Amino acid sequence: MERLQGPRVRIADQELLAFASNDYLGLADHPAVVEAFHRGLDRYGAGSGSAHLLSGHSPAHQALEEALADFTGRPRALLFSTGYMANLGVITSLCGRGDEIFQDRLNHASLLDGTRLAGARFRRYPHGDTSLLQRWLAEPARGERLIVSDGVFSMDGDLAPLPALAALAREAGAWLLVDDAHGLGVLGASGGGTLEHFGLDTQAVPILMGTLGKAFGTFGAFVAGEDELIKTLMQSARSYLYTTAPPPALAEATRAALALSRAEPWRRQRVLALAARVRCEITALGLLTLIPGPETGPQPPIVPLLVGGANAALEWSQRLETRGFLVPPVRPPTVPEGRSRLRITLSAAHDDADIDRLLTALAEVAWEIQRGPPA
Ligand SMILES: *Cc1c(COP(=O)(O)O)cnc(C)c1O
Repeated sequence: MERLQGPRVRIADQELLAFASNDYLGLADHPAVVEAFHRGLDRYGAGSGSAHLLSGHSPAHQALEEALADFTGRPRALLFSTGYMANLGVITSLCGRGDEIFQDRLNHASLLDGTRLAGARFRRYPHGDTSLLQRWLAEPARGERLIVSDGVFSMDGDLAPLPALAALAREAGAWLLVDDAHGLGVLGASGGGTLEHFGLDTQAVPILMGTLGKAFGTFGAFVAGEDELIKTLMQSARSYLYTTAPPPALAEATRAALALSRAEPWRRQRVLALAARVRCEITALGLLTLIPGPETGPQPPIVPLLVGGANAALEWSQRLETRGFLVPPVRPPTVPEGRSRLRITLSAAHDDADIDRLLTALAEVAWEIQRGPPA
């Protein structure tokens, strides 16, 4: 990728119209974000020099943690270098041998890996279906219990039944961790994500994990919750303790992106409207997508186009590339067998003509594939 920002990317000499990035709000190359990064570099240099608890924690990190706490309406937030590391750190810090972890079958790989690393007993319930979980929780507890879910599922683009999960967690005295990598900045009246959409507070969902490399356009992650949770993580999350703090300049860039996402609600309104349009028109073409819940609900900017087999997904993607589009295929093991797809992602930076072109190309490719190879 010679140029990877914005909807028009360049691979070697070819320019492609991309529906492939998680930069949902179009902030990754926003001048104010880039400018804040520059100013941070001038002030702090390139790297942090050490882990947070040694000498790596700068005023820039502190200001970002405070801004994230304010944004999420939680007492405290703690930065992690990546979302993958945040999930590993939280889960291993709260659970170990003898404890139990319950996960949605379609949760992100990092949540599953954290669970494996914790060595706890774990069970996965069918996607979005809490009835089995309810039965499991009715059994006597054998230790700490942790329920874990994506807020918006990264490959299906639908929302977890968080009100039901929160109610079950409360009844069973279990922890609830929500990974809202794809909801924060995008869903909710003020971009507060899936929890804001459902009106769930810190009591209902004590552990909120968010990433900074998606809607906020930079890199990194955080966990937000009560002071006691954050203190626990600072003392026992090994992926926080034993790694170099992210560059302070990056924290400055992220703080600028967060401020922009709050000041310009049109970005999330636009990307949600584009996603709703693409879902609707894909269905009208007779193609298969997944509609997340009631039609009046929010339509996250991840629109899967289900095509069946892995080869079919590859063929769709290649035919689109020939026409000048970058739409990545997603195949097993990332998604279950027979559920291969194109993962179409939208951004506030797409214009209406971009969407028109995509829909025309999808219709043409569908026609070609149906017609089969020339005789
Ligand atoms: C991207 C993602 C992560 C990992 O975040 P990184 O910062 O990229 O490591 C974790 N959970 C979900 C649901 C994600 O989509």
